[in-house]
Amino acid sequence: MTTIQPLVLLAPLAGVQLPLDQVPDPAFSSRLLGDGLCIDPTSQTLCAPMSGVISNIQDSGHAVSVTNEHGVQVLMHIGLDTVNLAGEGFTPLVEDGQQVQAGQPLIEFDADFIALNARSLLTLMLVVSGEPFELLVPATSTVETGQPVLQLKPATASVEVAQEQGNALFSKPLTLLNAHGLHARPAAVFAQAAKGFKASIYLHKQTESANAKSLVRIMALQTVRGDTLQVSAAGEDAAAAIEALVVLLADGCGENVVGVAPASTAETPAPVSSATLLRGVCASPGSAFGQVFQIKEAALVITEAGLGEAQERATLTRALSDADRALQAMQANVSGAQAEIFRAHQELLEDPTLLEQAHTLLTEGKSAAFAWNSVTVATTRLFQGLGNTLLAERAADLDDVGRRVLKLILGIQDDALEVPERAILIAEQLTPSQTASLDTCKVLGFVTVGGGATSHVAILARALGLPAICGAPACVLALSNGKQVLLDADKGELHLEPDPVEIEQLETARHQQSLRRQREVAQASLAAVTRDGHAVEVTANVASLQEVEQSLVLGGEGVGLLRSEFLYLDRNRAPSAREQADTYSAIARALGPERNLVVRTLDVGGDKPLAYVPMDSETNPFLGLRGIRLCLARPELLREQFRAILASAGQARLHIMLPMVSLLSELHLARRILDEEVQALGLAQRPKLGIMIEVPSAALMADLFAPHVDFFSIGTNDLTQYTLAMDRDHPRLASQADSYHPAVLRLIASTVKAAHAHGKPVSVCGALGSEVLAVPMLIGLGVDELSVSVPLIPTIKAAVRELHLKDCQCIARQVLNLEEAVEVREALYQFHTATAGTSPVLEN
Ligand code: PEP
Ligand code: MG
Repeated sequence: MTTIQPLVLLAPLAGVQLPLDQVPDPAFSSRLLGDGLCIDPTSQTLCAPMSGVISNIQDSGHAVSVTNEHGVQVLMHIGLDTVNLAGEGFTPLVEDGQQVQAGQPLIEFDADFIALNARSLLTLMLVVSGEPFELLVPATSTVETGQPVLQLKPATASVEVAQEQGNALFSKPLTLLNAHGLHARPAAVFAQAAKGFKASIYLHKQTESANAKSLVRIMALQTVRGDTLQVSAAGEDAAAAIEALVVLLADGCGENVVGVAPASTAETPAPVSSATLLRGVCASPGSAFGQVFQIKEAALVITEAGLGEAQERATLTRALSDADRALQAMQANVSGAQAEIFRAHQELLEDPTLLEQAHTLLTEGKSAAFAWNSVTVATTRLFQGLGNTLLAERAADLDDVGRRVLKLILGIQDDALEVPERAILIAEQLTPSQTASLDTCKVLGFVTVGGGATSHVAILARALGLPAICGAPACVLALSNGKQVLLDADKGELHLEPDPVEIEQLETARHQQSLRRQREVAQASLAAVTRDGHAVEVTANVASLQEVEQSLVLGGEGVGLLRSEFLYLDRNRAPSAREQADTYSAIARALGPERNLVVRTLDVGGDKPLAYVPMDSETNPFLGLRGIRLCLARPELLREQFRAILASAGQARLHIMLPMVSLLSELHLARRILDEEVQALGLAQRPKLGIMIEVPSAALMADLFAPHVDFFSIGTNDLTQYTLAMDRDHPRLASQADSYHPAVLRLIASTVKAAHAHGKPVSVCGALGSEVLAVPMLIGLGVDELSVSVPLIPTIKAAVRELHLKDCQCIARQVLNLEEAVEVREALYQFHTATAGTSPVLEN
């Protein structure tokens, strides 16, 4: 343990000393950064309160911290919100890493300028390393520069980290490679991994340390690319924790990282706006002509006093778990980067620092709303005020999560946003959740005053294809609703008096896009036949009767995958045999006797728990009792489902498909049960029986499976995860778990070859089949049917009609010999641009 001798801190400037509670900024008054004192200055030079090293001086010159050889760290912050002055009014006299003596001048400042241009001149001196201390001067007394004002308590004043860690193990120093440091997502991944260990774990940057299990603390370290970091851990699994976390950091915590060179921190100067043109930064490309619609968040009324600690604690716990459930549900409707954002939000709900601070306030008799709001607002402000663009953007995430929980505590329903047609939304800031739930039929784009190009809101806007700019001047908030404006997000411009020629060009491009969609929908009933006469069946992936009906309107030629486990997802009691039979019959009737209905038997387990099928928890659920394995372990479940499916025989061309088959014996066993049920029902004919090819063993043994099945359907989602050994839901592997990987494509190719050698058809029902980019390759590989997500049926059919089989076979041969998924994508992109002359990405 580090032992600290009694240490006296000197007043860094002259003025009136005030208690921190009187500082009108919760980031400081709540002691989020640390305890200390505040001085209303009468002098204009900030001096060192003790001897040590300058551990950080902000580029904007408004804040500086000094650390001594015992790890005591003191932060001084001149004025409130002075980061916004961008350095004006401050003259730093020292630099990072410089040794200074107690009383040495550190920063000169222009008190008049700051008093006029910032919120306040109040200056803070905080012991951010956490040692307890005694004040040596009475509150609200006058102090002189260099006067002893505060004494740290000896011995007991050990550093938080040292106290908690005892004989801690330390990793070797390593260099951080993430382009933007450990911002929310990599920090969430790191904190999540740290929470998997019992040891107390800290992440160290120079003399600063953060609890590695706290997302907020990691973010507050303000790491940047090139920083030297160390991990320390104390406890029974300390060594394992260090080993795992060091690898994680070296791998980028879920981000692609390369090279070591520190990134340039130079920022592009903000372009200038004019009376008819407002400029910001492109957050999401594209352009739109529409009408202004201002979004304003209503203020929430919060009562400070609670109704008793136990009750308020229960209220907070309930709101947090409701928020967690809502975020989980939001993830179900999105994928990739969008899902990762909501996962990071869930992490914030569990942040130990936030929760600890909120609970402390509850013990002081505050209400759950007040406690939660105080800690989230204080931390948000802290992130905004640290002078770091990325942290300021991450503040939007915390603000979003904070408001989500607060509304749940207050019982306020989030009403759906009512926006007019062709709306260009204008807001101070949109939250990630607001952005994710925008109605893209009405909203054409948005402009925000806050936010940044790397914010989660920007990521979501790109995923939704919505043009957006952020960092617009605040006067944009004064535009009246209904005003016609042109948003040119590519250039970061909002035109208030748009040029008719520009509007016309833009409208033409949008019009062509919508005509193409109309044409595709109008021609949806045409067969999907290539230009040289090769027919491909395009069917639907569905999970309800409603989707089946919709698929027929959009030209679906049948159902290629009915995910039966989704039919009763919200139930915690099994549907009766009668109810199941009715559901399958209704779907079969909607399709009619001429169309295929492929019912997949329950694919429960892995990422799909089903409340009425209780399962033991497993260490590796994706490799455990999932799909057909689970059904064979509970044969009554499978038997009953077979009976229910068979009740619809004759109403559609019935096919039964087994998921997750990895062994021939599974197929034989399931077939025997099916045969017994067919016989018991006295049916003249057994429906067709096929298997999903989604496990490499099934793909590799396709030649041995083929004689025993009527068809194969390739589940590229699982086939990719099992082939590349990458969890399909893993936030850090999302960009690598790519179905375009040649290893996956080779398994598709060999499966098709084996199936065709036995005269059996093959479909692709995984998400790869729904991608325009992949269509020529899949056709070239010999896939007979594409079972796709319902809205994309017209688009995929139209894409098939553009192609020549010979070209498809040629590109398929080519991609099988490539090394990486990204090369396959590039080759297909070139192919598409050469043959169709448009971008496949835009069409999707
Ligand atoms: C697949 O794995 O590709 C598939 C279609 O099945 P699911 O996504 O339902 O697991
Ligand atoms: Mg699957």
